Amino acid sequence: MGTQDVRRRVPRTDAVLADPRLAGALERLDRATVKAAVGHAQERARRGEVAPADVAAEAARLLPRRPTSLREVINATGVVLHTNLGRAPLAPAAREALRLAAGYVDLEYDVVTGTRARRGRGALAALRRAVPDTGDVLVVNNGAAALVLAVTALAGVGGEVVVGRGELIEIGDGFRLPDLVTSTGATLREVGTTNRTHLGDYAAAVGPRTAAILKLHPSNFRMEGFTSSVGVDRLATLGPPVVADIGSGLLAPDPLLPDEPDAASTLRAGAAVVTGSGDKLLGGPQAGLVLGRADLVARLRRHPLARALRVDKLTLAAFEATLRARSTPTSEALHADPAALRARAEALAARLGGQVVPSAGAVGGGGAPGLELAGFAVALPAAYAAPLRQGEPCVVGRVERDRCLLDLRCVPAGCDGELARAVEEVARRCT
Ligand SMILES: *Cc1c(COP(=O)(O)O)cnc(C)c1O
Repeated sequence: MGTQDVRRRVPRTDAVLADPRLAGALERLDRATVKAAVGHAQERARRGEVAPADVAAEAARLLPRRPTSLREVINATGVVLHTNLGRAPLAPAAREALRLAAGYVDLEYDVVTGTRARRGRGALAALRRAVPDTGDVLVVNNGAAALVLAVTALAGVGGEVVVGRGELIEIGDGFRLPDLVTSTGATLREVGTTNRTHLGDYAAAVGPRTAAILKLHPSNFRMEGFTSSVGVDRLATLGPPVVADIGSGLLAPDPLLPDEPDAASTLRAGAAVVTGSGDKLLGGPQAGLVLGRADLVARLRRHPLARALRVDKLTLAAFEATLRARSTPTSEALHADPAALRARAEALAARLGGQVVPSAGAVGGGGAPGLELAGFAVALPAAYAAPLRQGEPCVVGRVERDRCLLDLRCVPAGCDGELARAVEEVARRCT
């Protein structure tokens, strides 16, 4: 049959749309999405890749099966806060809160009086309860926004912020904290040297134009050897408010992470304002935390920029649920018992024919660099990695020394069966 004949026999769009499979899809999807699938199917038929009679079936196959193009991923990398995989997975209660907050909610409304109420008051109260040392709290879009708001509100254009040279860091994807700070119009006054900065360096730089002293946590790198820096406790003796960006959003000390600063200790050491992330070690949704002196937090809240950085009801709901939850998947993964990880890896390896190997997990998300979390992985052929990523479910492992390692640290224990089935499917296709 010639190309011309095939082209003539490709069914018209309205005929395909009338097929029950596509008519059904039109009830849940918008018309443009369904028509695009039909268009692709017709195009395949014109190229001779699909029989004209199968165009409707092909279009139905091409329809999006999920409401979003985002794919759920089984994180078998061993990296707990994997930036490329969306950082912190949410606790069940936070997921439930998202579903609830999707509709109308009393976000800024008092149901008793029938009048306006403070936006997100439940989430803010939960954060205040979690860190009793704080004067007041504020939640904004992310950690970077919290820092920008703090510098903007306290220093403003031309105001000076003093910072140690060893803390002028890039945190990933070309994102440099000093650029972020100067984007506010404030002037950075750098003191000390790359490896050593002393209290006297700060003291000499502090003057009438100093609006704040900045303490930036060098989250993703470590300096060793001949180094020194000045802690928040000593910086706080110099007079200007100390703004400490702790990065991870850890609220209280965690013995597993002795070098990660936490909000409570940093406030007790004398920081006037502490900023951090909601979706790193806190284990919640993307958010920026501001804690500290009530008068300064009020200045931040009243600044016009605060409105541009505010969070939506979904974030507030998930954030509050995270703070009230007994634990988070992030915390569970960080503190997973190596013996339990080994037992799970052995069970998987017995089923799949892989080998159990020690595997060093990492905190990720710019936290605790160099810290190796002892765990175990199932080692499989490296050729499995790509099909596992593209399979259903999508499994992302780690390719190391020509093996595909599946580290179970960040895989919920209830998902081992699903993970095994995904590997078996790939093994079938690879042999
Ligand atoms: C991660 C990080 C930030 C940025 O926080 P986001 O929530 O990603 O915007 C800022 N400062 C430090 C020290 C960080 O580690």
